[in-house]
Amino acid sequence: MSDNRAEELERLHAQVRACTRCGLHATRTHAVPGTGPCPADVMIVGEAPGFNEDLQGKPFVGAAGQLLDTLLAQIGLSRESVYITNVLKCRPPQNRDPMPHEAEACAPYLKRQLELVRPKVVLVLGRHALERLLPGLGSITRLHGTFVERGELAYVPLYHPAAALHNGALVGDLQRDFDRVRTYLDRVLKPPEPEPAPAPAEPPAEQLKLL
Ligand code: SF4
Repeated sequence: MSDNRAEELERLHAQVRACTRCGLHATRTHAVPGTGPCPADVMIVGEAPGFNEDLQGKPFVGAAGQLLDTLLAQIGLSRESVYITNVLKCRPPQNRDPMPHEAEACAPYLKRQLELVRPKVVLVLGRHALERLLPGLGSITRLHGTFVERGELAYVPLYHPAAALHNGALVGDLQRDFDRVRTYLDRVLKPPEPEPAPAPAEPPAEQLKLL
């Protein structure tokens, strides 16, 4: 079953690379569908590809990606163990903010990625991803580091690593929030308690008399 999902995810990536649903296809070098295993316990959703991501066709490969790798390593996770994508799969010119109609056009890809990867925890990086995944819930300043549970899935809003590169004061918040992610993962990924051993059977009455 998971093989089928991984194959379907690969087909979805191919659709993204050929997508012309919004105007960003005209200015991209490469679309950036996402990378990582399928299924995966942790999925990371950022805003949109930047300069380096657009050149390489991979998410989070610039300075923000290096900071993300450091934060993941801090809680014992590697880049290879998590699935990473963005709300927008193509770079907006000059890294401008995503426009609502672009995010809307791209939304079905993210929805399908969530269905196929089936994460237990989604790390929501920055205000644009927050607005797309948890619309109307509140600002990133208020919600960062909190757990928002929706059925069997938890969302954790976090500052975007690129924002922390611009404002060093946010790095400490990001580190503390990632520590909380580790605590949460330890709780939800804990193996189930073993079934209690059945009580020994009572010896038959005849046998009791002989003892
Ligand atoms: S941003 Fe999304 S909807 Fe727009 S062209 Fe790229 S893949 Fe298609």
